[in-house]
Formats: sequence, C-alpha cells, structure tokens
Amino acid sequence: MAKIAINIATGSLQQADMIVGIDLGTTNSLVAIIHPESKQPVALKEHDSSSLVPSVVHFDETGNIAVGEEAREYLETDPQNTVFSAKRLMGKSYRDISENASFFSYRVIDDDTDSLVKVQVGDKFYSPTELSAFILKELKQRAEHILKTPVTKAVITVPAYFNDAQRQATRDAGKLAGLDVLRIVNEPTAASLAYGIGLDREQETTIAVYDLGGGTFDISLLRIANGIFEVLSTNGNTYLGGDDFDRAVVKHWTHQFNISDEELKQNHELAQGFRLRAEEAKKYLSHHDTYSVAWHNHVLELDRDTFDGLIAPLIGQTIECSRLALADAGLTAADIDSIVMVGGSTRVPAVKNAVSGFFGKAVNDTVNPDEVVALGAAIQADILAGNNKDLLLLDITPLSLGIETMGGLMDVLIPRNAKIPTKAGRQYTTQKDGQGDMRISVYQGERDLVKDNRKLAEFSLKGIPAMPAGLPKVEVSFLINADGILLVKAKELRSGVEQGIEVRPQYGLTDAEVEKMLLDSITHAKDDMQARALAEARTEGEQILGVTEKFIAKNSGLLSGEEMIATAEAMQALQLALTMEDKNLIQSKIESLNEISRPFAERAMDAAVSGALKGKKV
Ligand code: AMP
Repeated sequence: MAKIAINIATGSLQQADMIVGIDLGTTNSLVAIIHPESKQPVALKEHDSSSLVPSVVHFDETGNIAVGEEAREYLETDPQNTVFSAKRLMGKSYRDISENASFFSYRVIDDDTDSLVKVQVGDKFYSPTELSAFILKELKQRAEHILKTPVTKAVITVPAYFNDAQRQATRDAGKLAGLDVLRIVNEPTAASLAYGIGLDREQETTIAVYDLGGGTFDISLLRIANGIFEVLSTNGNTYLGGDDFDRAVVKHWTHQFNISDEELKQNHELAQGFRLRAEEAKKYLSHHDTYSVAWHNHVLELDRDTFDGLIAPLIGQTIECSRLALADAGLTAADIDSIVMVGGSTRVPAVKNAVSGFFGKAVNDTVNPDEVVALGAAIQADILAGNNKDLLLLDITPLSLGIETMGGLMDVLIPRNAKIPTKAGRQYTTQKDGQGDMRISVYQGERDLVKDNRKLAEFSLKGIPAMPAGLPKVEVSFLINADGILLVKAKELRSGVEQGIEVRPQYGLTDAEVEKMLLDSITHAKDDMQARALAEARTEGEQILGVTEKFIAKNSGLLSGEEMIATAEAMQALQLALTMEDKNLIQSKIESLNEISRPFAERAMDAAVSGALKGKKV
C-alpha cells in the first residue's frame, strides 16, 4: 500500500463525523485518518516532522506538562520527572511489575503491593490512566491543529493480550482526554486491515501478524474469508520488545567498562545516557554494519554480528511464542500464506530473517511498521463511521472463563480461544432449603479446581424467594462485548431477581502468566482429573448426608432403634471419609449408607401411599 505523506491543513475538510484511529504505543503513539479525498489511510504529521509522538510525559517544577519529543529530551536531564513506557503500567499492580521495577527511572509507588500502581512526580501522584490521558490529549490537540476541525471520536488500539482491566484503563484514558472511544481494537487486527487484506471479499487467506514494538510482542494468526477477519489464536509477551534490545546493548557496554548494575541504578543520568545511545546504535545497525560514538570518556562501539548475538535469545522467545500460536490454531508454518510485520523493532534485519526463516517465506514489510497499526485503526474508524459496512471483526479470548460450582470446581462457560463478541449461559440452582443468596465467583484459567485459576470477580445474587433446595432456576450469563470486556449476570428465573457485574479485574496477567497457566493445565491434567473426581465424590457424599438427615428428621417413627444406630454410624463414617483425600473410601461409605437407607425410602413410600389411601373415602 502506498504511504501518503500529507499535511491536510487545507481547511477544506468538512467531514461531519471525523473519527480518528489512534495507536497508543509503549514507545510512540500516533493518529491516522482516512484521507477525505484519496480515501487512503494516512498518518497525521505536521510538515516535515515525524508522525510519531514519543509516549513520554515530563513534569516541570511549575506544574507544566510536556508530551512527546519535547518530553523525551528530559529522559536524560531530568529522569525522575520524566515518565516513559507508562503503557506497561496500565491496569497493573506493583506486584505485577516488581520484577521490572528497576527499568523505570521515575518513582513507581510500591507501598501497597496489591493495589494499582501510581507514579510519583514531585509531590503529585498519577495513575497510568492519567499519564496515558496526557498523551492522548496531546494527540487530540495535534490532530485538531492539523485537520482544523474538532476531534472528539476515536478508535484506540491495544495489544491483543490486554485484559479487561487494561482495556478499560485505556478507554478511561480516552475519556479523560476528552475523547469518545468508539472501539478498542487489537493491534494485530488493525495491522491486517492496514494491509488491505480481506477487503477483496473473494480472498481467502491465513496470515500471521508479528508485532514487535518497543515494549510488547504479539503474534496473531488470522483467517480471512468473505471479508471476515477471524483471529485463530494469539500469543506473545507484554515484557518483550525493542526496549529489551536496548537493555541488552547497555549491559554489553557497562560490562565492557566495568560499570556495575548498582552504579547504574544510583546514577539515573548515566543509565538514561546509555539507554539512548544503545537505541541509537540499534537503529543505526538496521542499515549499517558498525556503530561507534565517543561519550563520557568512552568510545561506545557495536557491530552487527555482536548485536545479533546479544538479541538472539530475545528473538528466540518470539519464535517460541509463534510456535505456540501455530499449535493453538492447529496449524503448521506451511499453512500461513503471508506474514505481516508490525512495530519499529521489526526493522532489525535479524528479526526479519528469523521470522521468515521460521515461517519459510518472505515477510511483508512494505507499510511503515510504526504506522501500520494506526492506519488500520483509521480503517476501523471508517467502518464504524458507516463507510464500510461489509467488514466484521472477530477476536478471541486467551483463557477460559467460568464460575465456581460445588466442591470448588471450575465450570467453564466460555472456553479459551472463543471468538468474541460472544455470549454463554447456564442454569444453576441452590443447595439449601430457603437459600436466599447465591454467590457467583468468576474465574479465568484452564484448571479443574478454581483455586488453581485466577479469580476475576465475585458478587451475590440476593433476594431469591424461599424455596426448597434445587427449585430456584438461576441463569448465569456471560457476555464478552466487542472490546473484550466481560459482563456477568445472574437471574433467578422464577422470581425475576437479577444482579450483574462488569468484570474489571484489579490487575492484569502478563503473557508469561497466561502461558504458565496453560502449561500448568497440561502438566497437571492427571492431578486435576483426580482432584475433580474427589471433589465430585465429596459433593455427592454431602448431598446424601443432607438428604438422609432430612429424611430422619421427618420420618423417625418409621425406623427401629437399631436402624437408627446403624444409620448414625454409617453417616458418621461417611462424614469422616469426607475429611480425607480418598475418593474410593468416600464412594464406599456412600454405598454403605445407601445400603442401609434404601429400605427406609421404600417404607416411607409405602407409608405415604397407604396414608393417601386411608385419607380417601372409598
Ligand atoms: P513501536 O512500539 O512500534 O513504536 O516500536 C518502537 C521500537 O522500535 C523502539 O524500541 C525503537 O527503538 C525500535 N525501532 C525504531 N526504529 C528502528 C530501527 N530502524 N531499527 C531497529 N529498531 C527500531
């Protein structure tokens, strides 16, 4: 696709509903629109400047806030008051980022490890949402300046692995910046749109979108047919990107000059200086063989081979993710018709070579990898504006979603890799007579027992009218909307009592965690089966104890003293078995209790029948 570098400051633009596409990136952000005349997506830029706005915010002592290139200058001179990579903090707790805390030269607040992180600058505290809002506000103002028209509506992209909390935080940032966020779109989905793949309805193809940006990595496999984009699988790592390449280079140099990690930690200016030069070297080596610069009494040098060696393990990780994505989709590399390259880091020749080597074909890199996502977001914005009604976008859920049922078991309502938007519902009932409340606990994960999965939310359906156990019909429904946000509702169908919740988990899962959860579900499959069988046996045992107790309370007259004792003994034995981990023991005790109580049930039935007959006048 031809890239059109254009300044649309003509004043002739009078589109009623201008919706812009925004790529809110970890390193850089930008805005794109569909050009009103050429109908092509274009990234907005002022004159000869770059379309990219560094995702950096600087705060000065007087309270002035600078965003973008101007703020980036302060990374070196005023690192404590300069916030970069805020996207990495979106929807995260300190615990989530603690391993990477040394990466941030500004102060990330860590006094309460469980709550969402805040950044302290001077005596002020900012949430990642507020920091992102500063960037979005700057983008909005720039767009308005270039387009000479108010910009109030936007489509914003997020990495495919962003969870509900992170998507919501992004949406909130948009709102704070004065934008009506019409849709949150996955970056790989936008990228494929930017390549125009699928616009020809006759085309049927399977593609891989490899997105290596500054801070995140995503691989997504898309099946495109009849103008429908379907994400078959996604994989990735939200802590892997070009920033890590920079860090590898910094490590190489500091090692060379005997500068300890501790020294670097103490001296923010030195650290940032190295970081900026490492990035410069990396970019330079995309087009040259050797880099060299004199700085602080040192000559920093790097050649392409050394650089390739430093980043080989990082590239290897992305290839491993690609392998997992293929396995998830049930595909092999040969099934992929084309590969789309996204993100500034895909300019690194070693990255291109590794990816094309893995898939066995040349990669697509004709669209500027820094702009491709924003251009796709502009196309999505155009679709939402009603200009391209034929397209439908489908995404998927990375992990299964379900609720806790009896015995702490996970009951999956929406399986992993389900296409979204999606809906699912199932009926449940009460365990106790007259039970007025029912707790709904929502979990995410692949394991059979909820304790091994991740709790997303919990709420109670209150005010269920008194009914015998098993009679209420509680319909629990899950709805994942097009933004990937989960809405859970519970409704008692007989009474109409209803309760719902929008699931905004407190913190996000890193890709590594998602991977670990999947891996655990495979390694623990056998244990899980046994645990499930034990949990089911316990539930059955508890139910039988309950029923027997109820029966005895009502029909004690029908049992002899001996029978009463035998029953009490069998019940006790079962109760004891329930406290142990032996499924077979529980089952045998259930069997014994059944043996004893079966005749009572027949007797009770006879009594009821004869009672009914007696009551009748013959
Ligand atoms: P993005 O998040 O897509 O904006 O990607 C930004 C990342 O791409 C940063 O880590 C940049 O250092 C990196 N990058 C930009 N240009 C180049 C280049 N020419 N060669 C290597 N990496 C680059």
